[in-house]
Amino acid sequence: MSLDWERHSEVVAYTFLEAFSQLEKWTADESIQKSEFFNELEAYWNGLPGALRGRSAFEVDEVDRLITAHVKDEVKKADGTGERKKVQRWCFTERGAEIPKVFFVDSAQTKRGLYLHLPEVPSPPEFPNVLTADFLEGVRARLSVSQLALWTEFLSTSKSTSKQLVLFISTPRAAGGRSLIGVVFSAKDHQVQSDQPVTPITVRRQTAAYMRERGGASLDLLGKHVAVVGCGAVGSFVADTLASAGVGRLTLVDFDVFSEDNVFRHVLDERYVGFDKVWGLKIRLEQQYPGLKVDCAVKHAQDWLCQDVMADLDGVVLAIGSPTLERLLSRRFKMVQRQLPVVFTWLEAMDLGGHSVLTSTRGEGCLECLYRDEEGAQSLLPRTAFLEQNQRVTRNLTGCASVFVPYGALQARRTGLMAADQLLGAITHGTDAPAYQFWVGTGTAAQAQGLKTTNWWRRAPSVSQSEATASVFGRACKHCRGHV
Ligand SMILES: [Zn+2]
Repeated sequence: MSLDWERHSEVVAYTFLEAFSQLEKWTADESIQKSEFFNELEAYWNGLPGALRGRSAFEVDEVDRLITAHVKDEVKKADGTGERKKVQRWCFTERGAEIPKVFFVDSAQTKRGLYLHLPEVPSPPEFPNVLTADFLEGVRARLSVSQLALWTEFLSTSKSTSKQLVLFISTPRAAGGRSLIGVVFSAKDHQVQSDQPVTPITVRRQTAAYMRERGGASLDLLGKHVAVVGCGAVGSFVADTLASAGVGRLTLVDFDVFSEDNVFRHVLDERYVGFDKVWGLKIRLEQQYPGLKVDCAVKHAQDWLCQDVMADLDGVVLAIGSPTLERLLSRRFKMVQRQLPVVFTWLEAMDLGGHSVLTSTRGEGCLECLYRDEEGAQSLLPRTAFLEQNQRVTRNLTGCASVFVPYGALQARRTGLMAADQLLGAITHGTDAPAYQFWVGTGTAAQAQGLKTTNWWRRAPSVSQSEATASVFGRACKHCRGHV
């Protein structure tokens, strides 16, 4: 919504009229009223007096089951007054599971919990809006035979001493998704104690499926498996982008160790110095993206490819930064029997730009297609090069053991993002036509160094990606398009 600051009274009048017409609509139709209310059930529940809020690690699905409640008493300093007050920290896990580290709750008491999915829940209290044991009775009356058996088992722990229990109920929302509400209550002699407090509770759902869906990650990509070969600056951003988009499984291939040289242009931070890059990324990415599984191959790309690794992959991104090796690997990929998208990505020195090439293990188009001159003869400089050949671009700060090509994190991020996007497009839409994508930087730093750029770099900003693709592919290539 965008409001016009100049028209106060009209904005207020419009808001009132809109609210009035909504009320009119709902009053006229009780079914709308009810579904609107139940769409907001969780918020209403959270607003009931004395409502507690916890965290949950169990998925909100349609499987009725016993769960475990964990509670820890804490003394908290109230703001300003310096007064201390007792608070309870609640969290919930699958039965018997440990509390996830990210909840920051240790040495908690455990209590029995029950999770049930109901097509409809009894109406919550309205006037007064105080929860009582009547609500639990209402729930019990709606249970199926198998749910009643679970309910009996749930209450069976309480003999002569009173025990605190937690019940969670999920119910479908007309607007999509599921509401989840909970009740903390006491039981004794297999009965709910109606003279004890019945407290509403809601939770933050810290589960892989919920956080993925809510965070815009694709649930369809959860079952996909992508290999990222080369986990330097560009490769690390490719892996991070794929994981954040929702890809559920990554295989990371790199033999290199993370060093202090890499910190400012890599996903990993200083704590990972001395780690194998792939192991560092596994720890870092699995922590960041719940539900992600990362496999590590501390290997050179060519050794990894010798194994039978293609069987369960859905795509590969190569970000090795070595054209010679990547051309060799490109030829190997053309021998793979399965149809699989393969993206090659690399960046140019300084701030000139970056490239990403989508190919497929089957059909026409390969990395070798780029290494052709105008006449179609083999060339060592790709048609896509932004920099004229035979120029010195490397620098070193401490001697020849630390030779590097200067470029920044921005260049690496932008290139990695482009490559990940290209592969995700191929996986999602099943496209296998070869495509060339690029981005062009300002080249200011490169020019200041006196570096000579190619005609293509100067033309590139005014050329569309499809024109560029057509000029790169479609020529004779003995590796993918018949012998010449
Ligand atoms: Zn080719």
